[in-house]
Amino acid sequence: MRRICDLCGSSDAIVTSSSGKAMCEGCLERFIIRRSFAELEASISDGDLVVVALSGGKDSSLALWCVYKYRELSSVEFSLKAVTVDEGSPYRRPAIEAARSLCRELGVEHVLVNMKDYQGISVSDLLHLRRLPNRRRSICTYCGVLRRQTLNMVARELGADKVITGHNLDDVIQTFFMNMVRGDVNALARFLSRASPIRELIPRVRPLLMIREKEIAAFVIARGITAHVGKCPMARGMRIRVRRALDELEVSSRGFKSKTLPNVIAILDKARFNLSKRLSLYICEKCGEPSAEKICKACQLKMELKDLA
Ligand code: SF4
Ligand code: ZN
Repeated sequence: MRRICDLCGSSDAIVTSSSGKAMCEGCLERFIIRRSFAELEASISDGDLVVVALSGGKDSSLALWCVYKYRELSSVEFSLKAVTVDEGSPYRRPAIEAARSLCRELGVEHVLVNMKDYQGISVSDLLHLRRLPNRRRSICTYCGVLRRQTLNMVARELGADKVITGHNLDDVIQTFFMNMVRGDVNALARFLSRASPIRELIPRVRPLLMIREKEIAAFVIARGITAHVGKCPMARGMRIRVRRALDELEVSSRGFKSKTLPNVIAILDKARFNLSKRLSLYICEKCGEPSAEKICKACQLKMELKDLA
């Protein structure tokens, strides 16, 4: 059924906000610009080299679009590049193509690297194993940890000052609850911190932190921002279950996620001081990358895989 935008009262609505207000494309754009620019203003300085982690999916493509717009409209002068880590999954081709096209359209330099060149292993290699070394881990654990570390290595090689990620409000709430369920105080202490406690770890900026996945999808489609819409079919693990539970809560209690996020931020801001003893990072004894433990998670996982060989 046709619904008119509750904010401007003149155009057709394309999405409903967490407070139940219908929004048209133009009003949604203003909303996205306002929220993403607030994060970027707080983080980017003159002379920075900003690297966007671009998977080619809708979130990171919108993040790149927002940073591109911010560079156009703000007085802050900074350089911009996009990095795509090809983890070697057979399902990633269309997303990598989308990333390439978007960078071409925006005139942004695109750096494409293979995870295998940095980590010695790809997702295809993992898929060819008869079984994973640890039953409690899914392919996503290996893929996620190794890809994240690769991204940091590439950003550092490029001399980046900030890494922009496409994490949205839904992702952030999921991660908070997952760390709570796991009791991972270390991860909670570092979570959403703008600063990096160690030079080797490039600070992360999340311009879509206050924007819901639904709003991102609606805007990317309406505006025709080049992106691959679709999920990796190998997605497994606790995140899927937590996402489902939170989605159910959102349906039964409208605005649950948006109302929860400021509380999450307030709790973390207050707790960060007490947790700060845990904020220190080590340099991994094996690979020299920043790590929460003496041996980083990526090396631990690679050792598990080696034991299997
Ligand atoms: Fe990798 Fe899992 Fe993400 Fe697929 S869903 S890209 S396997 S982390
Ligand atoms: Zn390591």
